[in-house]
Amino acid sequence: MNAHPEATPEAGADSGALVELADVSKYYGNVRALEDVSLEVHPGEITCVLGDNGAGKSTLIKIIAGLHPHDTGTLRIAGEETRLSSPRQALDRGIATVYQDLAVVPLMPVWRNFFLGSEPTTGKGPFRRMDVRFMRETARAELARMGIDLRDADQPIGTLSGGERQCVAIARAVYFGAKVLVLDEPTAALGVKQSGVVLKYVAAARDAGLGVVLITHNPHHAYLVGDRFVLLKRGAMAGSHLKGDVDLDELTRQMAGGSDLDELGEALERAPVPDHLGGGAARGPEPGGR
Ligand code: ADP
Repeated sequence: MNAHPEATPEAGADSGALVELADVSKYYGNVRALEDVSLEVHPGEITCVLGDNGAGKSTLIKIIAGLHPHDTGTLRIAGEETRLSSPRQALDRGIATVYQDLAVVPLMPVWRNFFLGSEPTTGKGPFRRMDVRFMRETARAELARMGIDLRDADQPIGTLSGGERQCVAIARAVYFGAKVLVLDEPTAALGVKQSGVVLKYVAAARDAGLGVVLITHNPHHAYLVGDRFVLLKRGAMAGSHLKGDVDLDELTRQMAGGSDLDELGEALERAPVPDHLGGGAARGPEPGGR
């Protein structure tokens, strides 16, 4: 299906997007990891990036998260053309990325992980110390605000389920003022129920006004929460849709291989069975048969 006109605005037009990629390409030596990829991330919306293994999803994350700069095309953040060359730069521009293998310290309590690397302090001079009370209360309140009901913010984060840990990471990004939240396959390793819980918090981040990039290979998960869908295939765009322009069946079909699948279907279609091999009437019960 063709890209929706709104999904690929004219270069230079200010679309109101928080992040916008226009014809972005990335090469690793001779390997084309991404070619001419365009997408938009808007406040209060979820842009889903769908693709199979090797489609270029990780490469796309790396470009938006500042790990690897793009080679050609345009990256705009809040309308301003940018080239990110470090994760710090992306963070400073309000882009938070939650990776599948979350960087947590399993034995430390949830509240400690919530503030990891950005611990608030109290007191002055030699009496300066981490503000444990503030951290504990704030982490609990922030998690509750996102609807995350933790039994105990003092428990080591390693005792939480994978889904709960993803939720803590999302709440953390919201608390620290992220404008854009990039989620790397947050439901990939989860069962149905936990996936549902994580998607609920992804939607909560959206409702808090963030622009969300949800990377997934699951069209069902994408369709539940997504406003925009970008399909990648071998590094190139295989589709770009707004929710109103595509239904779940079509998205699933495209994700499953689209036209490739149709061709495969045709190739596998049974040729008619010749008569001498039992074709024709042989499909039904034979009249007067045994
Ligand atoms: P996905 O995350 O969708 O599985 P990737 O972005 O990891 O896809 O990979 C896209 C393509 O780019 C693949 O063909 C992959 O082999 C290639 N690629 C990714 N990273 C590198 C790299 N650092 N060096 C060389 N090739 C890479």
